[in-house]
This record gives sequence, structure tokens and C-alpha cells, in this order.
Amino acid sequence: MLLKIPRLYDSHTHFLATGEFAAGLSLFDLPSAEAVQDIKLEGKTAFRGGWLVGFGWDENKWASKALPSKDLLDKVFPNHPVYLCRADGHTAWVNSKALQALGLQSATGLLSEKDHLQSWEKIPPYQKEQQRQQILAACKLYNEAGFTHIRDMSCTDELWALLVEMEEKGELTLAVEENYTFHELNDLDRVIQSVQQARKSESKLLRAKGVKFFYDGSLGSETALLSKPYGGHGDNFGKTLWNLADVEEIFKRTWIAGLEVSVHTIGDEAAHHMVQLARKVSAQGFVGRLNLEHAQVLRPETIQMMKPLHVRCHMQPCHWQSDRKWLKQKLHGLYKYVFPWEALKNAQIPISFGCDSPIEPSSFFANKYALEESPKDDIKKFTGDIAVFHGHPDSTYTNSWTVIEDNQIKEVIFNEKRIL
Ligand SMILES: [Zn+2]
Repeated sequence: MLLKIPRLYDSHTHFLATGEFAAGLSLFDLPSAEAVQDIKLEGKTAFRGGWLVGFGWDENKWASKALPSKDLLDKVFPNHPVYLCRADGHTAWVNSKALQALGLQSATGLLSEKDHLQSWEKIPPYQKEQQRQQILAACKLYNEAGFTHIRDMSCTDELWALLVEMEEKGELTLAVEENYTFHELNDLDRVIQSVQQARKSESKLLRAKGVKFFYDGSLGSETALLSKPYGGHGDNFGKTLWNLADVEEIFKRTWIAGLEVSVHTIGDEAAHHMVQLARKVSAQGFVGRLNLEHAQVLRPETIQMMKPLHVRCHMQPCHWQSDRKWLKQKLHGLYKYVFPWEALKNAQIPISFGCDSPIEPSSFFANKYALEESPKDDIKKFTGDIAVFHGHPDSTYTNSWTVIEDNQIKEVIFNEKRIL
């Protein structure tokens, strides 16, 4: 079957992190701890300052199943600090040089959680040329997966400036929408200013859209905010990271500035709070676009309440595929509201599909497969046209399309040029 999709769009992604993974030292296939002595670094952006950085090792894939130690790294890399993140992102394997530079003591060379996250912040940044390499690697990865349009959730002033420069040189093979993430109300005015500043250098390919914050957590860690307890009993309903008075400020200030608000909302109660608040604020005369990121559980009443608002839900069917094994157990009575793409489509609430790379690979096929599989787990069959819901909704945003045949990308035309 031949499919021609205009403006194939990944509507929720982390651009630079995807490039960092693509261009950096990947350890996902490391066959044993000892194999670090054979890693190849040519052509990779593996150094931050003098630090060798890599990610993806997992001792469960090794014959020994044993956690690695700093002694091995000291032997192989005696001369510079080494910092290797585990696949789950919660632990790092480091050498003595790194511990010394960080002012930490550890007999094993394993840093976890807070020690790891704080240390990660202290490693010198990538240089501009490395970031350029990472962006090029990310473009290649998205293009090979058929995508011509992405919506990035993790912009910075530095990244925007670099993208402008790369577009001028003709190096950019993606249309990119940018959003700035923030975590505190104190930071809101700064990110609003950044987006407004970026808007002055918008171009054919680059669009600065708005700001993003996290309202709740995730279903996997049972921190997404639900209206019923996890597992159907007990007192864990998940949690929110904000109080509603502060969110009201965010909506008002962002919409007054003419920008979009994007909110990470996974649980049904989290989405309900955001939609209820958007209605309240709209009734006071503040109007703007609200993007619900993920929207993995939605009650029918919440969907109905979206109708008069400018809401778009950005969903990742591939996440369903990764989570399906425990969804029924965790959600219990709320399971009937999970991944409600069909209910949203029927209510004519705009949806866009994406992949959340690098958390999941950027793949149209993974989403297509998940949408086809989901009825097997009692999720209503999606009857919309995936070519429409996976395409960028603005038909004036470059002349681009992707041709797919027999589950393979056959041709990618970006901005009237064939790039694949
Ligand atoms: Zn994300």
C-alpha cells in the first residue's frame, strides 16, 4: 500500500537530547563492562570539556549481571574524567578522576539519583560545533524516519541562535517549532521573553511557539495525577507540581504575550484541572492556545469541556505500547479512559501524534503499529486517518511530503527538495 503523507510531523520531541544521543557515545550495545576498552570515539561528540561522557549501559545485558566498578575505568582511562550514564538515567559509572573533580567519595564509582543529577550539571557544556554536529545527527535521524516537521519541547536561547545560523547556511532539513520549558513561576517572564525574542528571527523553517511546564508525573512511577487511587485502592492519587493559582498566572501572562501554553498532563485529574482552569481564565477574557502533552487518561466530561477552548492534545501511541503490560493494574476503574484518541477524534478536539524521542525512538511505524494493536487491549479503535493526524496541520508550512510503501520510507521531500 502506498501512503503519501504531507508534512510528516513528530509533535512532541526533545531535539537536542535526541542529537546528543545520536552523535554521542552510545553504550546500549556494550556487551560487558570490560568492553569499554574497545569503544571507538572517532566522529562522535563524546567529550564535554575534557570529560568523556556516554550513556546507555545496562548490567542486565551482560553475562556477569554485575554492576561495574571505577577500578576498571581507572585502568582504561587513567588520564581524564569519565562519566557514563546507565540506560535508565538514574545512575552513573565514573572513574577516580571524575570523583576528584566533583569532590565526591565513592568506593564503587557508582553515583545514583541526587548525586548523579547534581554531578551531571557540573560537567562542562558541549561546544557550539559539537551542538551543531548533534543537530545534524538529529536531523538525519528524523529524516530517515520520514519526518520533515518536529515540535521541540526543550529550546534554549543558544539552540535557537544556532538553528537560525544553520538555516541560513542551508543545513537544516527539518521545519522546527520551539517551546521553552520552565519549572518555577520566577522563571516564567524569562522564558516568555526568550520566545518573544526568538519570534523576531522566525523564518521559513523556524517557529517559536511558547512555554512548557510539568503539571504532574508519570503513570510508570505512579506520580501522574488521577481521580481514583492507583490500583483501585489506597491513598496514592499521584501528585501535582504546581498550585492552581500559579498556573492561572502562567495561562494569563503567556496568553497576554500571544504565546502558547503547553502542559505535561498525564493523569485524568491533571488534565481536568488544566481544562477547568482554561475555561475559568477564558471566561475572564484571556484567550490562547492550550496544548495538553501526552493526555494519556481523559474522562468524557473533560473532553466535552475542551470543546469551546483552543486545545490540542499531543499523544504518543508508542508510549501505550511500552506501558500496556501494567496499565490495567495501575489504572483499575480508570482504564476505560486510557489513551482516548478515538473519543477525542469523535469530539473533534485536535490531536497530533508524536514519539517523545529520545525516550522512545522517533518512528511513524511504531505509532501506526500501536494504533492498530490497541483494540486488542480494549482501547477503542482509532478510525481517523493517521496520515492526517501525523501530519503538521498548517498546509502553508513548507511544501514537504513523505512517501511510504510496504512499511518503508521510500521518499522524503522537504521544502521542495528530495532529501531521501
Ligand atoms: Zn517529552
